[in-house]
Amino acid sequence: MSAAAKAGGTRERAARPVAVTVRGAYKRFGAQQVLAGVDLTVPAGEVTVILGPSGSGKSTLLRTINHLEKLDAGHVEVGGEPVGVRRHRGRFKELGERAILAQRGRIGFVFQNFNLFPHLTALENVAAAPAATGRRSRAQAREAARELLARVGLGDRAEAYPRQLSGGQQQRVAIARALALEPGVILFDEPTSALDPELVGEVLSVIKDLATGGTTLIVVTHEVGFAREVADSVVFLDGGRVLEQGPPADVLSAPRHPRTREFLSRVL
Ligand code: ADP
Ligand code: MG
Repeated sequence: MSAAAKAGGTRERAARPVAVTVRGAYKRFGAQQVLAGVDLTVPAGEVTVILGPSGSGKSTLLRTINHLEKLDAGHVEVGGEPVGVRRHRGRFKELGERAILAQRGRIGFVFQNFNLFPHLTALENVAAAPAATGRRSRAQAREAARELLARVGLGDRAEAYPRQLSGGQQQRVAIARALALEPGVILFDEPTSALDPELVGEVLSVIKDLATGGTTLIVVTHEVGFAREVADSVVFLDGGRVLEQGPPADVLSAPRHPRTREFLSRVL
């Protein structure tokens, strides 16, 4: 548990981390079976890194967790709650749009290309969603956004627009924005792939701080060094299946599957 969570009443309240489970996930696009029976368990407060070749289904898997993609079969639970559906008389029924949006608000998502609003300042980007949900007043949302920007090392860039920030700074704003809704889990889809090499470290270091603080994180990345240092568990996805999952020392240093060995020899 993070220091902030232990302290209880502090203003910068950390959300309680939640577990994520994916069971028998299948997803097809046209003729292509993109997820072919994925099972994944991410305990609350742990960091799971997902590795795998391009096209192996990593983004699709993340997108099913917050219901940006709907599964053909299987199910996802976040914090013990089924995603996108509810149980009704022993059967599953689709949730309505509002309920899906509410659920998505509890799942942070950080994209490869930051996806900041270009016409809003860093502060406004971070404050927008909490203000819109009505959970906080505008003034409270801005105050919280200031604290979050300081936490990602951008306390002095609150009034800057995205185009005035480096890629690394923009991605740190995006992380602050994800934190603003106090999610129980944050999903990262190749958060450093669009960055110049010299900017990768500042973003990984912010993610590492979140990991140390006890937030549940699922991180798709090719940064094997980060996985080795920060992950509790490493998953190797290939052809829409989990080929192996385990502690970094096992999967990265002594991979059992030839496909994992081949992949690691290419990225290391
Ligand atoms: P990864 O993130 O591991 O590179 P993706 O999950 O993005 O893989 O994609 C897996 C496969 O599914 C790719 O071949 C991709 O072209 C295909 N795909 C992903 N999204 C769509 C979509 N919305 N429509 C059609 N094909 C898609
Ligand atoms: Mg991807």
